[in-house]
Amino acid sequence: MAVPKKKTTKRRQGNRRSQGHGKIEIKQMASCSNCGYQVKPHVVCSNCGFYKGKKIIAKLI
Ligand SMILES: [Zn+2]
Repeated sequence: MAVPKKKTTKRRQGNRRSQGHGKIEIKQMASCSNCGYQVKPHVVCSNCGFYKGKKIIAKLI
């Protein structure tokens, strides 16, 4: 979408870039030490609730 530079606000520019083309994607993924699920680094596993060998979130099943 070609628009004069001054007409595009920082908010509009950021909004456009946040979706689809040009958005920041997480390329690195870690695998959970407990279940092997693909998780984001430094984040509690969403599958089993383990982090650094400890159970952080008790999952209700
Ligand atoms: Zn896990």
